[in-house]
Amino acid sequence: MSVPARALLIDMDGVLYQGERAIPGVHEALGWLNSHRIPHLFLTNTTSRPRSALVEKLEHMGIRITADEILTPPIAATHWLKDQVAGPIALFVPPATLSEFASLDTSSRDPTTPVAAVVIGDYGEHWTYDALNQAFRWLMQDNKPALVALGMTRYWLAEDGLRLDTAPFVKALEHASGRQAIVLGKPAGAFFETALKQIGTSAAETVMIGDDIHSDIDGAQQLGIRGLLVKTGKFRSEDLNGEIVPAGLLESFADIPDWWRS
Ligand SMILES: [Mg+2]
Repeated sequence: MSVPARALLIDMDGVLYQGERAIPGVHEALGWLNSHRIPHLFLTNTTSRPRSALVEKLEHMGIRITADEILTPPIAATHWLKDQVAGPIALFVPPATLSEFASLDTSSRDPTTPVAAVVIGDYGEHWTYDALNQAFRWLMQDNKPALVALGMTRYWLAEDGLRLDTAPFVKALEHASGRQAIVLGKPAGAFFETALKQIGTSAAETVMIGDDIHSDIDGAQQLGIRGLLVKTGKFRSEDLNGEIVPAGLLESFADIPDWWRS
């Protein structure tokens, strides 16, 4: 007999919306969660834009949520860094998300002064040999700063073709320094742990709903959070033929009230 569900973690892309359109029934299901005061948090791996941009995008689809309800890798990293390290932080993140780190001490850019952590995001075209080597030099200093990765996506499809994402640069730094990165993005455990801490429930009484069998379902279930797979977004029927067995399968997010009641 499983513990009753008390809180919900919700993937965004493919669960709440597809492209620029809300998935049918999402407004009603979110209304139901709010009226029943079910604690919930939206989880996304988006690192290229601040939460305010996501809030705005959803508002255009008639979905009203606040930035505080969204956990992104930069926000999870901020929580993690405040908990785990003391001292200045070196950021290699796109300018658009710098504001998400405003509550940390990120002032030091002096290459010879030790930092407490080196944070790697999708720095993209800002990467140069000097920038990568600076991150490496910081990692090699005696104080052994933490290496934090905002996700481990290998590449993405831009308008002009494939582009390197965060993981190849993190891997290069791991390889050179012999250190291992803390990953704060789905499916990494540290990201889901940060979500549980923020929402204040245990893994057993928390449910994750998502359209990605690996990032959402496997990531959550590795920690003991039940995973509900939706048949919207990137879902393919082949997802059910692998080793990962979701705790539940829903047609879409609109079915959440029915699932919860049963
Ligand atoms: Mg998704």
